[in-house]
Amino acid sequence: MSPALGGPGSAMRRLNVHVLTLFPGILAGPLNESILKRARDKGLLDVDIRNIRDYTDDKHKTADDSPYGGEPGMVLKPEPIFKAIEALRAEHRDEQFLTILLSPQGSIFDHRHAERLSEERRRIVLLCGHYEAVDERVRAALVDEELSIGDYVLTGGELAALVVIDAAARLLPGVLGDEESAYRDSFGDGLLDHPHYTRPAEFRGMKVPDVLLSGNHEAVRKWRRREALRATLLKRPDLLAAAELTEEDRAMLADLRREMSG
Ligand code: SAM
Repeated sequence: MSPALGGPGSAMRRLNVHVLTLFPGILAGPLNESILKRARDKGLLDVDIRNIRDYTDDKHKTADDSPYGGEPGMVLKPEPIFKAIEALRAEHRDEQFLTILLSPQGSIFDHRHAERLSEERRRIVLLCGHYEAVDERVRAALVDEELSIGDYVLTGGELAALVVIDAAARLLPGVLGDEESAYRDSFGDGLLDHPHYTRPAEFRGMKVPDVLLSGNHEAVRKWRRREALRATLLKRPDLLAAAELTEEDRAMLADLRREMSG
C-alpha cells in the first residue's frame, strides 16, 4: 500500500467519532452530503451514531426522567449513557477515548479546538444532551471535557456535535481538495480570508478589482494579503495580536491604518 493510501509511513489521518444521542435523525442529513460524505466515503472520517435509547432496559426505552428537587424539564438518565460508553470501550478494548459533552457550559469551540480534534488519535465520543440536562454523574465520571458552540442555548447537543465534526473533519489531510484548502480560509493563518470574486467581471455596475484580471501573480498575491489584513483589521482586530506577521504585513497594516484614519 502506498503512503498516500495509508501504508507504512503514511500521513493519512482518520478521525473516529462516536455520537451518543436520543435523536440520530438530526445528524443523518449533514453527514450524508457534500464534503462530509466524501470524507466518510474516502475513509478519512468515521462517524458512528448511537441511539442512547438502545441502551435502556425497560420496555418503554426510557432514557430521561424528572429531576430530583422538583423543577420542570427532563434529565437524561445516567444508566443508558454509562452502558453506551461501556459498550464502546468493550468494542475497542485496546484504544483510548476522549469523551466530550456538548454543553453551553463548556469552553467555546474555535479553530484551535478544531485543529486539536483533527489531530486526535483517540476515539472521540460526542455526548449530546437534550431537554433540561444530563445527569451530573455522567459529567463527573465519564466526561473529559465540555465544549460549547457559543453563548446561547440549543434544544440539544446534536447541532453542536455536527459543528464540531464538520470543523475538525475539514482540517484532515485529504478531506478538502487543494482548491478548497483550509489553510487559506479564515483563521487558517490567523487572519480572516480576503474577498473572492468570480465571473462576470462586471455585475450590475459592480466591477471585479482590475488586479485580479491582470494575470500578474505577485500583484494578486499582494492584493489578497492586503485585503485579508484589511478584513481582519476591520472585523476582528483582536486576531492581529496573535497572528504571525511578516515585515511586509506590518507595512501593509500601517498603510491600511493610515488609509482608514485619513
Ligand atoms: N440546562 C442547561 C443549561 O442551562 O446549561 C441547558 C440544556 S440544553 C436545553 C440541552 C442540551 O443541548 C445540552 O445538554 C447540550 O448538550 C446542548 N446544548 C445546548 N446549548 C449548547 C451550546 N451552546 N453548545 C453545545 N451544546 C449545547
